[in-house]
Amino acid sequence: MTPRKTLLASALGVAALALAGAASAQQLASQMPQLPAPPLPKTPGSNLTVYPTRDGVYMITGAGANVTVSVGADGVLIVDPGSTASTAALMTEIRRLSDKPIRMVLDTNADPDHLGGNQTVAQAGEILQGGNTRPNVVAGTGGAPIWAHEGVLTKLSAGGGEPVGWPSDTYFVPQKDMFVNGEAVQMFFVPAGHSAGDSLVMFRRADVISAGDIYTPDRYPVIGEGGSINGLIDGLNHLLRLTVPEFNEEGGTLVIPGHGRLSDEADVSDYRDMVTIIRDRIKDMIGKKMTLEQVKAAKPTFEYDVRYGADNGAVFVEQVYRSLQPAAKGK
Ligand SMILES: [Zn+2]
Repeated sequence: MTPRKTLLASALGVAALALAGAASAQQLASQMPQLPAPPLPKTPGSNLTVYPTRDGVYMITGAGANVTVSVGADGVLIVDPGSTASTAALMTEIRRLSDKPIRMVLDTNADPDHLGGNQTVAQAGEILQGGNTRPNVVAGTGGAPIWAHEGVLTKLSAGGGEPVGWPSDTYFVPQKDMFVNGEAVQMFFVPAGHSAGDSLVMFRRADVISAGDIYTPDRYPVIGEGGSINGLIDGLNHLLRLTVPEFNEEGGTLVIPGHGRLSDEADVSDYRDMVTIIRDRIKDMIGKKMTLEQVKAAKPTFEYDVRYGADNGAVFVEQVYRSLQPAAKGK
């Protein structure tokens, strides 16, 4: 475990300082990061929890992957509408937040627990007619457009089946800019990270980033098909370049992970360090010609397993080992 404070620990710290009552402590407390509001009261019978982050951007947990919802004057924008089984419950929570139309859906990867809700959520929506002033948000016909990196569509196409709930619009450049609900929303492509089609989604005015499965603080990363350990670390470093701390390396930009708790830059930094240390250990062992079994037996994830690995890092170690082979795809 790291001694660094989490967002919650920061809150406790502020409370302790306030109790101390000293003028200097109060002054210090006033400089501490502003914390997000507590979660909304739960809808009776629902497994979902809605966390306000900032300026109309919410994190919803319990619907598969974490869901990000932005509400504002234009309507509703959703990043990763969760699993198919949770879509009805998700729609209930979205309607608590806004009665305006769903205008856009963005997918950070092609996993079913991230985009299973695409079809239902997009069909409930409408295209935002913006004319010449907003060319980026006028696309397709019927329902709300679904945006993703083209790697997401490639993966879904390769899997076959009916093209139901697939992205209607894709981007293939490093970054896709949009303007919705009075703020710039940017999708940044992460090449060969968790998968072949990962995006980070930044809400520039709210200063909130949906990181998808590039950052999952409740578990080790998953390096799936088309992904690579080096690409994933590049993605974490990209995320860290976008985040800005508020005070004493804490607060500031909020990061909604693909899975796990709402985070700040220091949380992402800890995670990047953990992943990098494990990558370097395994790289070193490969340099010594150790087999996968020997690397596993050497327990390169040892001190992190309590926090991240229900399987003692076995799957992650194997994925990193295979990703670092000279013949491995990606990097
Ligand atoms: Zn995921």
